[in-house]
Amino acid sequence: MEIEIATIGGYEEVGRQMTAVRAGDDVVVFDMGLNLSKVLIHDNVETERMHSLDLIDMGAIPDDRVMSDLEGDVKAIVPTHGHLDHIGAISKLAHRYDAPIVASPFTIELVKQQIKGEEKFGVENDLQKMEAGETMQIGERNELEFVNVTHSIIDAINPVLHTPEGSIVYGLDKRMDHTPVIGDPIDMKRFREIAREDGGVLCYIEDCTNAGRKGRTPSEAVARRHLKDVMYSIEDYDGGIVATTFSSHIARVSSLVEFAEDIGRQPVLLGRSMEKYSGTAERLDFVDFPDDLGMYGHRKSVDRTFKRIMNEGKENFLPIVTGHQGEPRAMLTRMGRGETPYELDDGDKVLFSARVIPEPTNEGQRYQSEKLLGMQGARIYDDIHVSGHLREEGHYEMIDTLQPQHIIPAHQDMKGFAPYVDLAENMGYNLGRDLHVTRNGNLITLVDE
Ligand SMILES: [Zn+2]
Repeated sequence: MEIEIATIGGYEEVGRQMTAVRAGDDVVVFDMGLNLSKVLIHDNVETERMHSLDLIDMGAIPDDRVMSDLEGDVKAIVPTHGHLDHIGAISKLAHRYDAPIVASPFTIELVKQQIKGEEKFGVENDLQKMEAGETMQIGERNELEFVNVTHSIIDAINPVLHTPEGSIVYGLDKRMDHTPVIGDPIDMKRFREIAREDGGVLCYIEDCTNAGRKGRTPSEAVARRHLKDVMYSIEDYDGGIVATTFSSHIARVSSLVEFAEDIGRQPVLLGRSMEKYSGTAERLDFVDFPDDLGMYGHRKSVDRTFKRIMNEGKENFLPIVTGHQGEPRAMLTRMGRGETPYELDDGDKVLFSARVIPEPTNEGQRYQSEKLLGMQGARIYDDIHVSGHLREEGHYEMIDTLQPQHIIPAHQDMKGFAPYVDLAENMGYNLGRDLHVTRNGNLITLVDE
């Protein structure tokens, strides 16, 4: 059976991930992501009403024109998890394919909300939920399987396409977490089994984000422990404490909520995306928040809540807000600019349970946000965080486990691929032979017969 891989997006950047695999006549698309930084760099761009081609020109969504060179039918569109760089282009591209969108329950729910917010295209693809451990027939001879992995968002999976020529493992995005705070540990047992099955692993496509960092990415349990230490250490502080983190990082938000109560403060989630992700996770029973946990997204209800906090005493609350990257319109940045009713005083604590995404725009905006907060007297606790991506030893372990015939590094630019290429070459792979460094819009033929 002929096997071809189309590397459509996310092979020159982190963002707008999209890869297609053709096995015989069947094509499966993995991820359809958005590169948000390409949108945010322009002032006030509203993507909801924009046409796909304009967004492709901006470099914001994958240029999927290479799909017309693949001779097969798209049978499924499979987003691996709910981060925007994996699902953010579905509302702009999925309607071009007559295929269902197949994803884990939390991811499907986020896709559904995104499609609802779309104003340009009517996206009518079927939405099919599939849990980790389940499989789905693709055409007559191929099978799709979801393997449970751990990442900085709940319900993440690595899809595996089983073909008569061996398995294609699509490895974006994960860390190897044996003690995640929510959900099951990464299913290494299943990866080991897949490696031993008939045909083994034909190809492994992998997220190289942290390949250049030595050692192993710590578990979410470590970030939780770190957060607990910071919060317990300021238990007796009788002024304002404010925290921020990735709003899609439900495990972290839930730790923040829990420790706020431990130190005698009422947690409140503020900001549109805080309300969206946490509300969705709670509705789907991924997390059991306290009954009285307030979540407010709209500007008016947020301001009303801030006024209530000021009236009842800042020392009784822990606002958990958006703005961990210093995004100009996010809540924490507005607090720094003094645009909300919440007043910061000398010595008030601001907890960043996040790391700055190492990219000039983020770094600049975060610098500005911290300076503004500092000018009002805030003390900053930074980097209470662990990454959601594998480091060098995690990558080593995955390659060692899967023993793939071919490897395609993804989710990075050329510079980001380099440390992964070094690692793979040290393990016996050869650039150009079975290790394929590529760019957006290319086809790689793995089996040609
Ligand atoms: Zn991700």
